[in-house]
Amino acid sequence: MNETETRKPDFDFENFTFGVQSTDRMLLAAYQQGEWSEHRIAPVQSISLSPLAMCFHYGQTVFEGLKAFRMTNGNINIFRMESHWKRMNRSLERMAMPPLPRHLFMDGILELLKMESDWVIDDPDYSLYIRPFVIATEKKLGVDASQEYLFMVVLSPMRAYYNKPLKVKVETNYIRSARGGAGAAKNGGNYGATLLPQINAKKEGFDQIIWLDAKEKKYIEESGTMNILFILDGKTLVTPALSDSILDGITRDSLLKLASEEGFTVEERAVAIEEITERIEKGERVEAFGAGTAAVISPIETISYQGKSYATYLEADAGMYRLKDKLAAVRKGKKPDTYGWNQLLDA
Ligand SMILES: *Cc1c(COP(=O)(O)O)cnc(C)c1O
Repeated sequence: MNETETRKPDFDFENFTFGVQSTDRMLLAAYQQGEWSEHRIAPVQSISLSPLAMCFHYGQTVFEGLKAFRMTNGNINIFRMESHWKRMNRSLERMAMPPLPRHLFMDGILELLKMESDWVIDDPDYSLYIRPFVIATEKKLGVDASQEYLFMVVLSPMRAYYNKPLKVKVETNYIRSARGGAGAAKNGGNYGATLLPQINAKKEGFDQIIWLDAKEKKYIEESGTMNILFILDGKTLVTPALSDSILDGITRDSLLKLASEEGFTVEERAVAIEEITERIEKGERVEAFGAGTAAVISPIETISYQGKSYATYLEADAGMYRLKDKLAAVRKGKKPDTYGWNQLLDA
């Protein structure tokens, strides 16, 4: 394939499973002797690594997840790209991996997207998911920080299907992360360790888990691989305050800013699971939802805690839908981008 040619992808944009198909090209850059190479863009293909490469053994792997959208005026918008770059460097730092220079992340991804722009179709439910990641590649079996790394970016089509509200279970046995751990970093190991509890919850008939704090198993942390937010009485948006055991979600941050603009009272604080269950028991109106780049918001329908199920508020006038629509409008360019969140491809 000619590296500059674009072509209409021969791909069924209506029916596909997320994450299985990549676009035609990927980005690569290597870190050796203390320096990142320039990036190069190549046809998507398998890569070859030594079985001694450290990423296979000690978990130095970090990723990001962001999206490109076609705006109403035809431009391509990579939402909050700079915030994703900064967070990736915080994750890399926590995992003793070298930071990515701004130009490598930003210009590299913009160039890749320019070549793959035919994959960003004009459809309100469609986005192109961007997956940057860094892995340790030095050949060495001793436990140590690798001296060599590979940065790659792949792109994958994504469609927002109607997602059914989730039945979630408060996990009281396993934990996702603890204070002092690496829960605030997007490193691979954090996700591997959540698969077994997630599978167990599925077997019990739940869609997702709510994670509690590791020490007291009293305070809510996140839901699955999303941040969790609540709207109390249609007026107050409450979410657990950030710490080193909670991922600093960019969707969470966007929703908090939009909520303030919309007149909600915003509270970032400790949220005890019993506060939520007691409010629901008293008949208060409680909305609960997960927030993350992939699904934007995932409404929660029931919260199961210590064998009891608590039903949340899900009517059409729920505040979470208003926030979701406003975020979509900003990204599409239908509402002013007050915070400079939209990174345009042709800017
Ligand atoms: C990525 C992620 C989120 C959501 O972050 P966004 O920036 O909104 O996509 C929340 N929790 C965990 C554990 C995550 O990995």
